[in-house]
Amino acid sequence: MEKITMTTPLVEMDGDEMTRILWKMIKDELLLPYIDLKTEYFDLGLEHRNETDDQVTMDSAEATRKYGVAVKCATITPNAARMTEYNLKEMWKSPNGTIRAALDGTVFRAPIVVKGIEPCVRNWEKPITLARHAYGDVYKNTEIKVPGPGRAELVFTAEDGTQIRETIHNFTGSGILQGIHNTDESIASFARACFNFALDTKQDLWFATKDTISKKYDHNFKDIFQEIYDTEYKDRFDAAGIEYFYTLIDDAVARVMKAKGGFIWACKNYDGDVMSDMVSSAFGSLAMMTSVLVSPSGVYEYEAAHGTVQRHYYKHLKGEETSTNSVATIFAWTGALRKRGELDDNKALMAFADKLEQATVRTIEAGKMTKDLALITSLQDVTVLNSEEFIKAIRESFEQIM
Ligand code: NAP
Ligand code: MG
Repeated sequence: MEKITMTTPLVEMDGDEMTRILWKMIKDELLLPYIDLKTEYFDLGLEHRNETDDQVTMDSAEATRKYGVAVKCATITPNAARMTEYNLKEMWKSPNGTIRAALDGTVFRAPIVVKGIEPCVRNWEKPITLARHAYGDVYKNTEIKVPGPGRAELVFTAEDGTQIRETIHNFTGSGILQGIHNTDESIASFARACFNFALDTKQDLWFATKDTISKKYDHNFKDIFQEIYDTEYKDRFDAAGIEYFYTLIDDAVARVMKAKGGFIWACKNYDGDVMSDMVSSAFGSLAMMTSVLVSPSGVYEYEAAHGTVQRHYYKHLKGEETSTNSVATIFAWTGALRKRGELDDNKALMAFADKLEQATVRTIEAGKMTKDLALITSLQDVTVLNSEEFIKAIRESFEQIM
């Protein structure tokens, strides 16, 4: 077979530990034999981030803005233990945080659904994609521990000095206070990212808050979504045969549990944090969860939702066999290649991505899988493969499909 050619490079962000090992195996076995792979390579491995004073992370975000599509390997977010382990100059920030701040995006997480790995919720037949607003609310709060009786007020001082003042509570004893905020600009870009992603993936979009109780704060989210939908997206949603609707978060939770899946659920920051953990655990495994950062300017960064699988890496370093699941990392690559194909009108690249995903799913459905899946599968007589054997088994399925 002739290798598929690419016209525009995609940004490749290499990472750390076990996922860095898988990264190379995936490229060698599943990509390079079939594609004349064009990437702009950035080594986000912790050693190189340290050497470059983290400049490499900034550069990779800049390149992503330029080329429009990136694929990222999991990376270590340094903590005190990593400072010693890697002899770091500084406790560098989370690369994901840096990239998200640079691209101003919304993160969409979706499970990879496979027969034999059944969600705990029996009626979920299709994936549920969670869209989490990643700015503000309780994540940027100001809190006071109220020592005793007194009046708490909410005060806004405009640039010209005029004030808006509301009494929060007249305390008769000790208590607590919290101030939170969001901006119309951030909410609007969150809304646009959700509408664009719904159009892109042809799925309905649900959005839910607690606007019946929070009549100004949450209501503002609801209004901004509705206005942007009505003025910019309604016609395109109608043409695509998909739907946007707003509902109260209690109602959304109840409906999600009864739904078949196949839609996007947009949540405010805290709701998204909690609900994405619930949805991903209910679907079975973090190793089967993809994640894509979509910026309002239409830039896409694909990755696995899990980390660098440190415990497996230490086993690997000791020369012991590992059985680490590479599915989410493979799907990060196929997501990025498909998007590159769409943007460049490269049909062969898009078809390749589809077939590699099919081959991955078929391998698992044929009972060949890594240990983490073998522990939760409903299939009988499964073969547990090591990290490398699993990737080779996917290559075999892929060759059969071709
Ligand atoms: P983790 O790498 O997600 O792994 C936690 C545990 O989940 C593993 O020990 C393993 O369980 C299981 N697991 C996760 N992915 C798996 C896979 N692909 N195949 C099989 N099992 C898998 O989280 P962590 O150990 O808390 O974090 C390790 C490092 O990753 C940290 O330095 C953290 O900063 C970083 N991290 C990076 C990202 C990112 O780049 N997006 C996200 C999260 C964490 P068993 O050990 O029981 O087999
Ligand atoms: Mg969480």
